[in-house]
Amino acid sequence: MVLEQLQLLAAITRIDNELAELQEELGDLPYEVKALEKEVRMRQQAVDTTQKHIDDIIQTRANARIRAQEIHDKEKKLSEQQFQVRNNREFDAITKEVESLKNELRDVEKTIASTMLTEDNLRRVHDGQSEDMEDAAMRLADREHELRDLSSEHNGEITSFLSRRADLLAQLPKNLVVQYEHIKEYHNDTTVTIRKNCCSGCFSAVPAQRIVEMRTYKMIFTCEGCGRLLFPEEMPLIPI
Ligand SMILES: [Zn+2]
Repeated sequence: MVLEQLQLLAAITRIDNELAELQEELGDLPYEVKALEKEVRMRQQAVDTTQKHIDDIIQTRANARIRAQEIHDKEKKLSEQQFQVRNNREFDAITKEVESLKNELRDVEKTIASTMLTEDNLRRVHDGQSEDMEDAAMRLADREHELRDLSSEHNGEITSFLSRRADLLAQLPKNLVVQYEHIKEYHNDTTVTIRKNCCSGCFSAVPAQRIVEMRTYKMIFTCEGCGRLLFPEEMPLIPI
């Protein structure tokens, strides 16, 4: 009874080790993909923000051009009116108005010129940001591809190990399953053999008397050093 249980436990640990190895082969890849996803998102946001500035500046210029046209039209109308004035006072009033329009036009033209300059600068920034974003997107695509390939390669193996693991666990009493999963939180290799009178998990010595008792398979022993489940070296293993 205890022998069978120990054999099941040892088999489950071997499966857990295989699963951990498969996981390790994926390595940092899943984290790299996540980090790159974030990088692409942030770079895209930067591109969008710059584009928004460009759109705003184009709008400002379009408004300025409309205003410049309005000023031209008004000025033209005023110069026509100036021929029809009845006295000096009216003439001076129109001259003053034209003068003020000319001043405003100078400001509007300055605005138009400065938006051109700003737009040029923003476009250069935008191009650089887009390039960086595309570069990050390409790196992400590479990593995602790599991860997909590796995962699909491993998926079959992982699935069959998991189902075998569930089969083996189902043959154990509930309290042992709970104990196993609890130890596994600290040590992935939950069930280990005694080697040269020592726990092969943490290498602490196991008293000879305990090893003798262990060989009678009357109860399950845990290592006093690390808490792992122990089995004698000569115990026959069941296939996984
Ligand atoms: Zn130990």
